[in-house]
Amino acid sequence: MEKIRLGRTELVVSRVGFGGIPIQRISEDEAIAVVRRCLELGINFLDTANGYTTSEERIGKAISGRSEGLVLATKSLERTPEGIENHLKLSLERLGVKSIDLFQFHNVSDAGTLDKILAPGGLLTVAEEAKRAGLIKHIGVTSHQIDTAKEAVKSDRFETIMFPCNFITCEDAEELLPLARERDIGFIAMKPLAGGMLDNIPLAFKYLLQFPDVVSIPGIERVTEIEAIIPIVARPQPLTAAEQAEIERLRQELGTRFCRRCEYCQPCAVEIAISDVMAFPSLAKRLPLVRLYTGKFAEELEKAADCTECGDCEERCPYHLPIREMIVEHVKMYRAGKREYQKRLA
Ligand code: SF4
Ligand code: SF4
Repeated sequence: MEKIRLGRTELVVSRVGFGGIPIQRISEDEAIAVVRRCLELGINFLDTANGYTTSEERIGKAISGRSEGLVLATKSLERTPEGIENHLKLSLERLGVKSIDLFQFHNVSDAGTLDKILAPGGLLTVAEEAKRAGLIKHIGVTSHQIDTAKEAVKSDRFETIMFPCNFITCEDAEELLPLARERDIGFIAMKPLAGGMLDNIPLAFKYLLQFPDVVSIPGIERVTEIEAIIPIVARPQPLTAAEQAEIERLRQELGTRFCRRCEYCQPCAVEIAISDVMAFPSLAKRLPLVRLYTGKFAEELEKAADCTECGDCEERCPYHLPIREMIVEHVKMYRAGKREYQKRLA
């Protein structure tokens, strides 16, 4: 697979990296097999996070004794100097390495947090000391919020920026990318498949391949997923007029009220599975009716009626989605669909 330079880090990484979120959901043996298959297929950039439960440890086991030539990235949500130091120590242990290639401040999506990192003697100095000590090679930042991401890039203190980038939510990323380029800051595209909401893999990756200096990190849970992506990346083709039209159609259809399934809105005090409820219109187009209107998914939609409209989730949503309003709409849509489904069965 083609490799590209990751901005001023001078790291050379595969055009597509490995996103380490989904391997938390499968068995350890399966996770190790998936990571190893990705390496066989030419991926050398693996991204994980301290917060992804078993992900770092599983990647560490998969690469044990074979980390030569790999670029390992992880991140921390900690916001205290001691917390950063502890997370760094844990990440090194779990990944089984002496140094982390790219250590990122995770989900810096508000001005206050960015200030805390950049302030004189702030959290960045902790990472910089670790870099001087050889525990970290490069320092980056990840964000879901465009204004904060722009400020982070403009600060010129980070070597990489990770930001959501896919053709549904592309405006912000397309605004951020030139700023990163001006400063030679490496650009990592998270959520290339919109958090699992885009199932047209060729379209999603052809869109991203338009940006020659962007590395994307799809979350990979199954070998078949990466095997579907690799041929598109191996033989890049420009988008055809029909594909451009399809992108437009999908943008219109999914719109700006699009849940990225990032789960930052959780926890909900009454345990509503917010992202599943938010995704209902999209799932309703793709799932068999029996899966929509019976079983676990139906239970989650029924439970959504318990929403107290407290608004806590909206404060945590980095995309400022009108969650309360959308839950009401989606529950209504679910009930109407369920009535139809039951009529058909009667
Ligand atoms: S507004 Fe509803 S869904 Fe959101 S946290 Fe409150 S109860 Fe949960
Ligand atoms: S509602 Fe917002 S915070 Fe929650 S999963 Fe969707 S995009 Fe993420």
